[in-house]
Amino acid sequence: MNLKREDVAEAFSNLTRPQLIQLETCARCSLCSTECPTWSELKEPILIPGGKMAAFLKIHGKAKGLLSKLFRREISENEIKQLTRAVYICTLCGKCMEACPFGIQDENIWRSVRETIHRLGATPSSILELEKMLEETYNPYGMDPETRMDWADYAGLEEIPIKEKADLLYFVGCTTSFKAVNQEIAYSVSVLLNHLHENWTFIGEQERCCGSPLLMMGNREKAKSFAEHNVEEIEKRDVKIVITSCAGCYRALKFEYPKLMERKPRFKVIHVTQYLRDKIWKGALKFETKITETVTYHDPCELSRLGGLIREPRDVLSAICRRYVETPEHGRDARCCGGGGLLQAFDNSLRTKISIKRIKQAESTGAKILTSTCPSCKMALVDGAKELKSKLEILDIAELVARQLNLL
Ligand code: SF4
Ligand code: SF4
Repeated sequence: MNLKREDVAEAFSNLTRPQLIQLETCARCSLCSTECPTWSELKEPILIPGGKMAAFLKIHGKAKGLLSKLFRREISENEIKQLTRAVYICTLCGKCMEACPFGIQDENIWRSVRETIHRLGATPSSILELEKMLEETYNPYGMDPETRMDWADYAGLEEIPIKEKADLLYFVGCTTSFKAVNQEIAYSVSVLLNHLHENWTFIGEQERCCGSPLLMMGNREKAKSFAEHNVEEIEKRDVKIVITSCAGCYRALKFEYPKLMERKPRFKVIHVTQYLRDKIWKGALKFETKITETVTYHDPCELSRLGGLIREPRDVLSAICRRYVETPEHGRDARCCGGGGLLQAFDNSLRTKISIKRIKQAESTGAKILTSTCPSCKMALVDGAKELKSKLEILDIAELVARQLNLL
């Protein structure tokens, strides 16, 4: 079946002229393909970053180009379906952007293209399911919002500081609050804040998803409403600093909220590794012993390449580890674990294949402990390690620090 050209033209009008010029360059190139974790697994031409751009431009040309109007070129549902699949077979890791000799800002473009697909009503059904859960329960797992803080009971957190006013607020995030594999991260950050006698609080049951998944599926309006809600909850507590232990929440709160709300929130956003490094450097956190096993670190794409925090986790690790080694491909060049871009909802087996590759890289270092600092990365790495029957112990940096202080 063919689609109405005017409807497609309307949906395709969200990309800016500079973005279209970038797409044009990209559509003729494939220099970054070997860097792309999804293309490296599936090797289909349409999955080369430039191949996705070419598929997008072909439809854009048919919808908006003069020649297509004159010759009445048709746009089929199948073409849109193929483009949608190609754009969702992507972890939004930004590695293509890092490798690109033309400085193309792919990660933003991918999100804009997903927005086009959303405007067209062609978003894949599994992603629409996610969107529905976010709209109904304010988290992507469809969990009852009243259970958002239940992890504190399971983990046995003795002091739960829900306060009306505080200096510091821990934004826990959905993947840490609701996924059992990550609840020790929330517990670790909490006991570390108590250990350091901070005047701190949570939003609690009123916390909503940071909006990052909504931005990844191109629903900016809904992401904006979540941002407004969270900012109101934080600002009414007169909080000065917000700490996140999730790379996705960090990026959303720090970089996306000011854009979505068209104003700067009245608080500073930091990632837990920045906070821990500061406390170590100031002498507030001291370690009597260092971890004796060899440790390696997986950089979350959203924190390193896309968030600019590369030194901070390494400084924390060198304070607590006797021997720390790098994986092949690290820092800005880090290989994705497969956990980003909503790939788990779209193609979970591909996500696992990508994480297996990352686990193999970590194993090649000879490390016994693989650490990271994002709950989505931890989930993907744990799944990859399980599949591979790897003996690596996988822990978040906050867990490692808390354990080293005998707080876990
Ligand atoms: S992102 Fe850059 S390197 Fe990759 S295909 Fe596009 S233009 Fe080429
Ligand atoms: S963002 Fe990552 S997964 Fe997506 S096309 Fe670029 S390199 Fe591939």
